[in-house]
Amino acid sequence: MDKSLKKEAVVIGAGPAGLTAALELVKSDKFEVKILEKDFVVGGISKTTEYNGCKFDIGPHHFITDSKKVEDWWFDLMKPEQENGNLFINLCRFTRIYYKKHFFNYPLQPLNVLKGLSFFECLYCVFSYIKICLFPIKKVKTFQDWVTNKFGYRLFFIFFKTYTEKVWGISCNKISADWAAQRIKGFSLSKAIFYAFFGRFFKKNTLRTLSDKFYYPLFGAGTLWNRVAFNIESSKLGKIFLNKNVVGITHNDFKITSVFSCNAKDSISGAKKLIEHRADYFFSTMPIKDLILSMDPLPKENIIKAAKKLRYRGLITVNFIINKKNICFDHWLYIHDKSVKMGRIGNMNNFSLKMVDNPNHTALSLEYFTFVDSSFWKKTDDALIRLGKREIEKIGIVKKKDVISGMILRLQKAYPIYDKNYKKDLKIIFDYLNKFSNLQLMGRNGLHKYNNMDIAMLSAFKAVDIVLQSEKDEKLNKETEKIVQMRV
Ligand SMILES: Cc1cc2nc3c(=O)[nH]c(=O)nc-3n(C[C@H](O)[C@H](O)[C@H](O)COP(=O)(O)OP(=O)(O)OC[C@H]3O[C@@H](n4cnc5c(N)ncnc54)[C@H](O)[C@@H]3O)c2cc1C
Repeated sequence: MDKSLKKEAVVIGAGPAGLTAALELVKSDKFEVKILEKDFVVGGISKTTEYNGCKFDIGPHHFITDSKKVEDWWFDLMKPEQENGNLFINLCRFTRIYYKKHFFNYPLQPLNVLKGLSFFECLYCVFSYIKICLFPIKKVKTFQDWVTNKFGYRLFFIFFKTYTEKVWGISCNKISADWAAQRIKGFSLSKAIFYAFFGRFFKKNTLRTLSDKFYYPLFGAGTLWNRVAFNIESSKLGKIFLNKNVVGITHNDFKITSVFSCNAKDSISGAKKLIEHRADYFFSTMPIKDLILSMDPLPKENIIKAAKKLRYRGLITVNFIINKKNICFDHWLYIHDKSVKMGRIGNMNNFSLKMVDNPNHTALSLEYFTFVDSSFWKKTDDALIRLGKREIEKIGIVKKKDVISGMILRLQKAYPIYDKNYKKDLKIIFDYLNKFSNLQLMGRNGLHKYNNMDIAMLSAFKAVDIVLQSEKDEKLNKETEKIVQMRV
């Protein structure tokens, strides 16, 4: 198709959702696409950062999906190149929970739980499970209600409460039950016991929560997204602009007219030099709260109020290169114990040995969940590194002296928070934004939906399908109009 006949699209954000949408648009051969990304690299939360010869995801990202389309897309991208061999490796998950100086296998295995907890603690768990089976909570509103109904209060207390509260920073009885329903789905104590004993006979139907197989790109999660970016730019129909923070969105009659970007550094210093980007269609993965507050003119007060109420949880990862190998076999260690602040440890070596500079080293990533206005967020990198060293020594997996060096990564909006009111606020915002004929919302913060990469991608596929369909309808309408006019 002649370039001048193509429609123009602007995609905000070069994370998984933005890149997926952009690649699908250029593949359709009907669009020229401009991607505006405020970071200096692509990949969003799913990027991989290099440090002293080692590679760190922001919390190791495993690739798992129920969608054949997404899986085919990943495999097509990661096709082995002759010289490199297999680029997309298949791994078997090994994860444990650290609680009161014991490591428990996850998914929970009854015998392993019995071994780690005292006899009386086990009795307590059994009785509290029987109690909830007899008297379940009728009106399930919160995360605490949902999990207690499935496992009993005591197991909820030991294996869900502390970690969940570390992640969210709010009490489990203030987190919406939606989150548990979305993340833990059909899981329950009876199913955990059943799968522990008979799971191997039912591999095909294993619940996603319990699934132990996943894929991982040989050189880190971000390498898959770098490939998507490369394919977009190679098509000559797509161009990615890094360090472009979208700070203004003008509109008229429920149509976006332009978006305005400035260099990311300028948006902090306040000296903004704005660049205007016009297009026929706009696809946004920027946080929905920022989108509303960047609109010009601003929407009505109740919509602004709803947007301002949306909350996010930040994340700091403390990434260590350790002068030791085989520290643990786990991909992740969930730290439920309250005696340390960290929530999770990812062992990059167990995802791929290409993540380390030297097979005798280990790349560990410690996750600290926090709010950006907290004193914890303001800690210096050095202070965080000292804290990380103390905590890994405390739980007994590494000695401080074995840490070669450390690096800090910060993410302001890692988790969209599902508090008790978020649904009401989102509805107000969506009712307004859905009226825009040339705007598509996608992705994790773009939809305020706590989802994994595959679901972010599916939202991008859907957005592109809607636009391609509306283009087809418009073409059909024009042709019909022409025929009608000719007949008249
Ligand atoms: C600790 C952690 C571990 C995870 N582990 C997994 C896992 O194992 N498997 C899995 O599938 N998923 C995992 N996820 C989820 C996964 O990271 C997300 O689902 C995915 O990155 C969402 O893609 P996205 O494109 O919607 O958003 P993002 O990745 O957030 O990308 C959005 C992009 O938009 C850019 N942007 C934002 N605002 C603007 C603006 N105003 N102007 C220009 N650009 C802007 C951002 O810089 C970013 O690059 C994990 C997430 C976290 C936090």
